Amino acid sequence: MTTPVSPHPSTFARARALISASALHQNLRFLSEKAGVPLLWPMKANAYGHGIDVVAPVAAESEAVWGMAVATPAEALELTEQLRGLNCPKPVMIFGASFPDEWPALVAAGVHLTISTLAEAEALPEGAQAHLKVNTGMNRLGASPADAVAVGRRLEERELLAGVFSHFTEAEEPDQTLSRQQFQTFQAVAQHFPEVRHHMGNSAAVLNLGPLPGMALARPGLSAYGVMPPSGAPGLTPAMTLQARITYLHTAAAGERVSYNGLSTLDRDSLIATVAIGYADGYPRRATGQAEVLIGGERRPVLGRVCMDQLMVDATGLDLRAGDWVTLWGRDAGGQELHISEVARWSEMAEYEIFTRLSTRIQRVAAP
Ligand SMILES: *Cc1c(COP(=O)(O)O)cnc(C)c1O
Repeated sequence: MTTPVSPHPSTFARARALISASALHQNLRFLSEKAGVPLLWPMKANAYGHGIDVVAPVAAESEAVWGMAVATPAEALELTEQLRGLNCPKPVMIFGASFPDEWPALVAAGVHLTISTLAEAEALPEGAQAHLKVNTGMNRLGASPADAVAVGRRLEERELLAGVFSHFTEAEEPDQTLSRQQFQTFQAVAQHFPEVRHHMGNSAAVLNLGPLPGMALARPGLSAYGVMPPSGAPGLTPAMTLQARITYLHTAAAGERVSYNGLSTLDRDSLIATVAIGYADGYPRRATGQAEVLIGGERRPVLGRVCMDQLMVDATGLDLRAGDWVTLWGRDAGGQELHISEVARWSEMAEYEIFTRLSTRIQRVAAP
């Protein structure tokens, strides 16, 4: 009996993000060692676009991860459900604010909450796990340093205090004067609550400041996915490879134009590969004119405007079939690499933004 031979698994996906579990594990271990403490791993916005269901098993398994953090109550409830399915007892924290009518469900799910005010400290239900947020300069959430101790005391009296934390505003800057001031302001408050977990370090702080005295946890997000501007850091491996399939191959003559508005004119007879990914999938339209991809073992330019659902690549001289995968960033089958930071530069976007704009059309796939 013969089995039909196909170079590709039968799937309707046109574009996929392969997420390397070993890269994530390695980055988490590296960052936890660098910070000298376990991690409260940021997994907000669908795990920075990597796919919460693909990343949650890694978080559950990793010894470097104490708990996970998200931005909103909806994300927290989704993640706690995932973790229940994995029999994982690690806590989930919400970095954002929550409303009183959301508290009963969140407390029942064991979700740790961010608290900024005395009114919240008074109104929280019994059994809540509260992390007091201290505003040390971000002016986003948190009690002022002057008010924070009183809020923390109230939470402590009610036996609801589980942590004290703050957030750096510019730990990526070479001049660390402001970061040091922020940390001192934080510690002046946190020292009143020695019994609970203190945490402040994001990716930039972990990589630039190293271990911070007195901290119980660190919160590196982007770097745990293996990316830190401008072009990665030693010890970090990008976890995501973004790929899309060639759907059509055809030749066009020298002098013809490709894609909208004639931004690209062919200077030779060309083989054009049409690839099933566009800005509706989250590939930046603004990369138009500079974008390159890995195709057939080579790095080739995208021709003309990136469309909503498709883009065209100069594939002249390459041996390709419809159905073959093209690599938009990450590592191709031959081990060639195209870093997402290049895509970020072409499109004048932050890596954070590119990751979190990847749409539901992208199939997230667990990979070794
Ligand atoms: C998103 C977030 C982080 C992680 O920031 P990165 O720059 O991705 O490391 C840490 N702490 C808080 C409060 C956050 O909102």
